[in-house]
Formats: sequence, structure tokens, C-alpha cells
Amino acid sequence: MKQSQMLIPTLKEVPADAEIKSHQLLVRAGYIRQIASGIYSFLPIGRRVLRKVEDIVREEMEKIGAHEMMMAALQPAELWKESGRWFTYGSELMRLHDRHERDFALGATHEEVITSIVRDEIKSYKRLPLTVFQIQNKFRDEKRPRFGLLRGREFLMKDAYSFNESFESLDESYNQMFQAYSNIFKRLGLNFRAVIADSGQMGGKDTHEFMVLSDVGEDVIAYSDTSDYAANIEMAPVIMTYEKSQDAPKQMEKVSTPDQKTMQDVADYLGHGLEAGLKSIMFKVDDRYVMVVTRGDHEVNDIKLKNLYDADIVELASEEKTKELLGTGFGSLGPVGVSEEVEVVADYAVEALANVSCGANEAGYHFVNVTPQQDFKVSQYADLRFIKEGDPSPDGQGHIQFARGIEVGHVFKLGTFYADNLNASYLDDQGKAQTMVMGSYGIGVSRTVAAIVEQYNDERGITWPAHIAPFQVHLLSLNPKKEEQKQLADQLYEQLKTAGIEVLYDDRKERAGVKFADSDLFGIPLRLTVGKRAGEGIIEMKERTTGEQSEVDQSDVLSTVNEWFKQ
Ligand code: ATP
Ligand code: MG
Repeated sequence: MKQSQMLIPTLKEVPADAEIKSHQLLVRAGYIRQIASGIYSFLPIGRRVLRKVEDIVREEMEKIGAHEMMMAALQPAELWKESGRWFTYGSELMRLHDRHERDFALGATHEEVITSIVRDEIKSYKRLPLTVFQIQNKFRDEKRPRFGLLRGREFLMKDAYSFNESFESLDESYNQMFQAYSNIFKRLGLNFRAVIADSGQMGGKDTHEFMVLSDVGEDVIAYSDTSDYAANIEMAPVIMTYEKSQDAPKQMEKVSTPDQKTMQDVADYLGHGLEAGLKSIMFKVDDRYVMVVTRGDHEVNDIKLKNLYDADIVELASEEKTKELLGTGFGSLGPVGVSEEVEVVADYAVEALANVSCGANEAGYHFVNVTPQQDFKVSQYADLRFIKEGDPSPDGQGHIQFARGIEVGHVFKLGTFYADNLNASYLDDQGKAQTMVMGSYGIGVSRTVAAIVEQYNDERGITWPAHIAPFQVHLLSLNPKKEEQKQLADQLYEQLKTAGIEVLYDDRKERAGVKFADSDLFGIPLRLTVGKRAGEGIIEMKERTTGEQSEVDQSDVLSTVNEWFKQ
């Protein structure tokens, strides 16, 4: 394609709102443009990259027998009321109504739509298992859209759904999908890990996230330094046994701790380490109020708390409610002498302690020499803290290290949640009605494009893996006003096109410096420059990623290019 005729607006300056590489480069190189917060259009070269990623996803889906369809993005509220998610999904769901005041949602995901189709069309076990997928824009009114394509409010997702006769059959579909995802991200050239994840609001059990390793990732992965264990930090269980303190419990005492705000302040003031103080945080767990107590150097993991109570919603209690229940606000909370209304649960590490400090539920005061069970009651000890670097790996092999990750894919075993709510059943081989068992599998296609750029860039621009780049070859004619350069470049352009090579031809009347800079920005793997030596039929070839340069004779260009792509 001729660059002079293409919409590829490049920018010299980094856009002010773009904090991370992928956002900066995709905008600067003319791949995308923002139209509103978290909403982007893909310009022609952006569309080409997106399509290449889509095609890989498509191929791997079809390989495991999933078939492509396209569901409506506009979904009637009734369906979401049937599943119950109209009431639980919250403000991320984009809601609107039609001219008859009927409520609709823009598809944030499509479990309801596909389940309603399948329940109407599939009646017999003979038609199961069935897996379908689509690649389509999704809408989510994210609280903090940011980082360009990484967290948008409209974004491209591949979503797939499996319908199975049994949980065993679901396991098979899930494993196939898991393998397909591994193939996809490998083919995309990404450095990724599949990690054990939390099932969140989808109501499922087994679930894995596919994480691209990157410092800009929002998720933290806990992985073993010796085995292939990896989990989202939210999910990694702590399997330590804490050695019980041998100190004899002393007499608890109330001491004044004026103006000591943080855990660290209090520990310093009392002259002990963070681990010798208790951290007490008030949570609202569905309808009850729970005080969670951990060691001062540990962090409460609210997902573990949620799972402990099998709760729908876990949030911090308001300061107002905390005052009402404990007589004091945040900052000096502790488990000693709290009313019956407050349930105290503690992390396993707390059980082993003796003679530690904690807030006295009175501003400016703490208790010292506090010993669990003797000085306060705990209704339940459980694993309630985040794993830390250096903790033993949950699989018993090695120790935990952290890495940041971008979640590009997610596979869930949904079970019967949607089938139950929407009445999706089939007749088994005995003619008995059975509930369908479902799985749901997503890939953030547009997010994946950004994740690739995060892993493939240098100081001059993007360095796409060859098969993802918008074009294979960038052909530059440095001075198209010179007839011999124009002629040779025109000729090469036709030759490459005819040979089926995807070529972008910079035929613009721009300075050479501008052309080189744009070319580096785009990240097309191979650059052919027709310049001063056009008269001798000599072309300069440069690899984008390595910067390696060579001179090629006009007659060898095609074979050299073909050879390069073969490797
Ligand atoms: P996140 O935790 O990042 O919000 P999610 O758990 O809400 O993701 P899923 O509902 O599992 O995401 O959606 C499937 C995939 O869609 C995700 O793995 C991710 O790659 C992608 N995705 C989700 N939300 C966004 C978004 N706001 N912008 C771009 N891609 C997204
Ligand atoms: Mg989300």
C-alpha cells in the first residue's frame, strides 16, 4: 500500500495522557486514536495488526472444534434479570433504554445471550459438548479506564462458551481451551504464565488467568523459584506453620501512644518490630461486621476473607460504622474487649504470638503484652493474608517470588450457575432432564495487542514479531523526485506485491529523516531503502529489531526477502 494514500498520522511528541510505552507508541505511530476516555478507534495499520492477532485466535479456536458466531451486542435487561446479574454486575454494565423505555445493556460479556440461545435450540445429550466463540467489541464502564488499550471501556474480546453434559466433560473442554490459549500466546511471541486465579463474580470454581509478564501489569503473580507453580497473588495460599511463641503470657497493659498514626509509627514508639504488633481491620462481609486480625507485617487478603465466608460482597467498614461498633475510628482498633456484634477472625500467624501490642479502641492508646485467646477471643483462625516473597511455595517446591502481569486471557469453569438461572437443560440418554454444565473463556484481543507492544519495543519505536506487524516490508524511496529512485522503488513495489509480500511503500515527498523516524516507529520487520545508489540497482536492507544492515542487488531482493521470512 502506498503510504501517501494511507491514514497513518504519526506524532513526534509523546501524548500527555499516555503513561506507558504501548499507549504512547500505538498513538504516536498512528495505530489508534482515542475518541473518549477508554474508547479507541483503530486506524488502518492498527486494524491490520488486530486482524492478525484475531486470525491466530480464530485458527486455534477452530482447531479445538469451537465455531465462530456473532451475538448481538445490545442485550435486553430481561436476560440479565434472569441470571441475576442485572442487580449484581454494578455500574460497569453500560445500561440504556429504547424509545419504549425498555431497559437494555451493552454486552460486557455474553453468558446470558448464549445460554438463552442454547437452551432453546439444544435439547439432547447427543448434541453435547458444544463450544462456540465470537470476536466482538465489549462494553464495560470501567472505574479507571487507563493505559490505552490495556483497560478500555470499549474493547475487543474473544469470548467462547462450552456446554457440557457433566463436570468431567467440562474438564475436557477446559483443558482443550487451556492448551489452545497456551498455543495462541506462544504464537504471538509473548512471555506469559498461566496462573491460578479467583473466579470473581462469575460464580465459578476452577479458573486460570493468562498473564503477560510486564512491569506495567496491574496484577501480581506469585510464582515458585523452582517449580512451575504460579498463582494470582490474590489466590496463593500460605502454607506456613508458625512456631508458637514460648514466652509466658504477661499481664496486659494499656499505654499511651500519642500522635502515632501508622503501624510503623506505633511499632517504633513502642520499640518493637512490625511483626510484634497486631493489625486489626474492620470489614463488612455481606451483612455482618468482621474484624480481621493479622500480624503487623502482613497484609489482609480480602479475597480469602470473601471465600472464608462464601460471601458476595466484602468491603471495608465505614469509619462511621466502626465508631458506632467500637467507639473509635480507624487508627487504634484492636480485638480486645470488642462487643458480641463484631466477629473476630485472625490469620494463622496470630495464633502463634504472645505479648504483642494492639490498638485499644481508644484514640491515642494501645495495649501491650497482649496474648491471643488469653486477652481476646478469636472465633476462627484461617489463612487470611497475602503471600509474601520468600514464603514457601504452596506446592511445596521452592520459594515464592513476585512478578507483575497483564491479564490477557481467562478460562473459567462456570458450572451450572447460568444454566440453573436460565433453565438450560437437556435430556440424557435415559430421557431424564439434566442441567447443562458450562465453561466461559475470554481473551482480551485489543489488550493483547498492547501487551505485545509492551514486550516488543525499543527507544525508537515498536519492534513487532514479524508475523504480527502490519506489513512485512517497509519500502522507502528516499527522494521520489529523483526519477531513477522513483522508478526503481515503483518497480520493487510491484514486484513484492506480486510475490504476495505485504509491503508498505513510503512514496511521500518527505525528508529522509522523517521517513526513517516513522519507519522505526511503525516497527515493520524489514526495511528496504532506495536511495543514492538506485542508479547501480543497489538497495539497502535493514532489520528493525537487530538494526543489522546490508546492501542487496535489485535482482536479489525478492529471494533475500523470502529467505529472511523463512527464517
Ligand atoms: P480485569 O481484571 O483486567 O478487569 P476481567 O477479569 O474483568 O479483567 P474477564 O471478564 O475475564 O476480565 O474478560 C476476559 C478478558 O478480557 C480479560 O482476560 C482481559 O484480557 C480482557 N479485558 C477485560 N476487561 C478489559 C478492559 N477493560 N479493557 C481491555 N481488555 C479487557
Ligand atoms: Mg474487569
